[in-house]
Amino acid sequence: MKLALLPGDGIGPEIVAQARKVLQRLGLKLEMREAAVGGAGYDAAEDPLPPATLSLAKEADAILFGAVGGPRYDGLPRAKRPEQALLRLRKELGLFANLRPAQVHPQLAAASALKAELVAGLDILIVRELTGDIYFGEPRGIRAAGDGGREGFDTMRYSESEVRRIAKVAFEAARKRRKRVCSVDKANVLETSQLWREVVIEESKSHADIELSHMYVDNCAMQLVRNPRQFDVIVTGNLFGDILSDEASMLTGSIGMLPSAALDASGKGLYEPIHGAAPDIAGKGVANPLATILSAAMMLRYSLGQEQAAERIEAAVKKVLGEGLRTADIHTPGTRKVGTGEMGDAVAAAL
Ligand code: NAD
Repeated sequence: MKLALLPGDGIGPEIVAQARKVLQRLGLKLEMREAAVGGAGYDAAEDPLPPATLSLAKEADAILFGAVGGPRYDGLPRAKRPEQALLRLRKELGLFANLRPAQVHPQLAAASALKAELVAGLDILIVRELTGDIYFGEPRGIRAAGDGGREGFDTMRYSESEVRRIAKVAFEAARKRRKRVCSVDKANVLETSQLWREVVIEESKSHADIELSHMYVDNCAMQLVRNPRQFDVIVTGNLFGDILSDEASMLTGSIGMLPSAALDASGKGLYEPIHGAAPDIAGKGVANPLATILSAAMMLRYSLGQEQAAERIEAAVKKVLGEGLRTADIHTPGTRKVGTGEMGDAVAAAL
């Protein structure tokens, strides 16, 4: 199995190094190669996604991405900015399905913005369509309006095939979990959502073992804070998913713990923590590597067919949290504060 490791900027190299350590401990045949991306790509080749990095990503079976960005690069023209690397990778590799789990480890329930009893043991997966919807629909623009002022307009649009393929990803992900999918739309108001709902229902006929329900997006936003544990997999479009996945990540209270994936039609994917390059703590050895380590577990599950290895990593993370080890971002009185490397070593040792 060929892996491309793209550490990037800020805390990226520190946290990806911990994931590498953990992957090496599994005893699998993994060929890992690293390349510069983001600001590091710009420094090396004046391009946030140098050609050599793109070809490594294309040749790999899966990509583990750290984070990109930092104040040093904020003044660059748009095409040279670090985040362009991610946008271009998504486009070049056809990564249309964004998987964002939100899990609350029982030991960390007190970190949530919600009451611990509402979120302890929470385990939901948001499947967001990533390449369509109102973010990409044409026509769009700002034009003269009839009243003498201007008007802004965008086009919400989804084709049947786009809805079908994201629905399929959600049903297949649910099969590896608790076998329930909730499709979120606004079918009471939007034509796009009406078609979305019809196609999801059609696709569900090929996944008869999965229970399908539907929810309007406004209700879902409310249910996520009222009773989030009712959900297993939530599937939704790009716009609604953008908002709901950020809301769901806050349920856990800890940005340093959450992994994510972006998958193509054949299951190849790019895996990354949801947080950024954290320039404020870069190089200090205090960053939490668990989101990246858990991203590596997702990579084994969704792109490499190694469910057992994924579960071993997740169990190892639970074990070290159970033993009271905490990086600074999740540290509470009575637990033991450790640095980035020590946390990585502890997870590898727990394997
Ligand atoms: P951020 O996620 O980098 O940091 C937000 C806060 O969370 C900071 O206080 C940081 O110290 C803390 N934090 C983040 N990850 C942590 C970890 N693993 N352990 C402990 N604490 C952690 O977001 P930001 O500050 O808005 O952005 C910083 C830079 O990262 C910017 O250049 C931004 O463009 C970039 N960024 C990149 C990505 C990506 O690569 N996918 C995502 C978001 C932001």
